[in-house]
Formats: sequence, C-alpha cells, structure tokens
Amino acid sequence: MMPIRNSVKPRQGSRGIQDTEVRPLKGSGTEATGRTSHHPAPGLGALPILCEWRHDTSHVVAFTLFARLVLLLLLPSLTCGCLTFGRRPEPASPSRRVPGMWPVTHERLRVSSPFGYRNGRLHKGIDLAVPVGTPAHATADGRVRFSGRQRGYGEMVIIDHAGGFTTVYAHLRKRLVNAGDAVARGQTIGLTGRSGNATGPHLHYEIRRDGRSEDPAPYLP
Ligand SMILES: [Zn+2]
Repeated sequence: MMPIRNSVKPRQGSRGIQDTEVRPLKGSGTEATGRTSHHPAPGLGALPILCEWRHDTSHVVAFTLFARLVLLLLLPSLTCGCLTFGRRPEPASPSRRVPGMWPVTHERLRVSSPFGYRNGRLHKGIDLAVPVGTPAHATADGRVRFSGRQRGYGEMVIIDHAGGFTTVYAHLRKRLVNAGDAVARGQTIGLTGRSGNATGPHLHYEIRRDGRSEDPAPYLP
C-alpha cells in the first residue's frame, strides 16, 4: 500500500503550502517573515509578479499587474516611435540651400545639349532651349558672386550656395541681380537670350561643387 502522500502536508513551522512554495527572492525585502514581498527588487520583476498573482487575486493587484504589463509592452514601442519620428530623414524635396529645381520652365523646354564631352571639349553644363525672354530662376538660396558679361558665356550670373555649390546661368538677354545680392530659391535672376557664343536661344546652366563642374541632370527634379 502506498503511504499517505506527505507532499501535501505543510512543512513544519511553515504557514501553509502556499507560503512554503513561494519564497521571497534574496534581497527582495521581508526574508525575516518568510512572506512574499509585494515590492520586488528592481530588475527582478517577473518572479514576484507571478507570486503576487498566485497569492493575491484582488482587483487592485490585478489592475496593477495589468498596468505594469501594458507599460512594459508599450514603453519600448512608444520610445522607438518617438525616436523614429525624431530621426525622420530629410523630405524627398531637397533643401532650398541645395540646387534642386529647373532654372527655367516652359512648355517648349527641351535639353538641347547635355553635360559632357562635345567635339573633344567638356561642355560644363546643360543647355535648356527656351524662347528668348523666359525668366531664369536661382535654383537655391545663395548670394550672387558675379553678374556681368564674359566671353563665350555672354550675359551671365554666378551664384554661390551653401555646401560648396555654385550655379551658373549664361547666354542671358538681361540680368536682374547684381554681385553681392542675396537671392532666394526660385527668384528670377534674369531673362534668357542668346548672348555670347550661342547658336540659338537657350540657357546654359552649370552646377559646380567645390570648384568642379558636375552634371546638373541629377539635381533636376
Ligand atoms: Zn551650354
């Protein structure tokens, strides 16, 4: 015959099976009484929470546990969300300080000559064929470095921008800004024409970065 199960008997000197099963964590507070602490040590949250659940099923404790659980689950995601919004990358449209728009717009606009080598010589910009008198716009905020006439370029405007960028607008019929002027992106800085060495009416547009000519095409929206 099997003996009466002793395992269910409370241990000697204990307060009952529940108390013997659940022992407080070392350092969790009330070891002297042998009762479960309701104030778990920092960082040792899981086990005391379970103990509390088993011992005390009052609504208050249940609500506290639920609140803890919600905070535990939500806080990291909320924090991540805030960080994500805080580090949101630059919007798709480039900064006003960087050349990022067409210097001329017209329904009959066409690129009559791209950037690159042409008859063995580097064409340092793109030619945008537009009718004479089309407004030419500064493609970024900046300051006019030069406004005048140069051989080959004709009437031209050179604008310095942030980040080492410089833009050039050539073959103008009329210049509308002077050296030293602060200009805003989109501001009309002249009217297109065919001054200088131009076979037809167009705007010769250049982008230089740190003094080196770059293909303007990638900077056009
Ligand atoms: Zn050109």
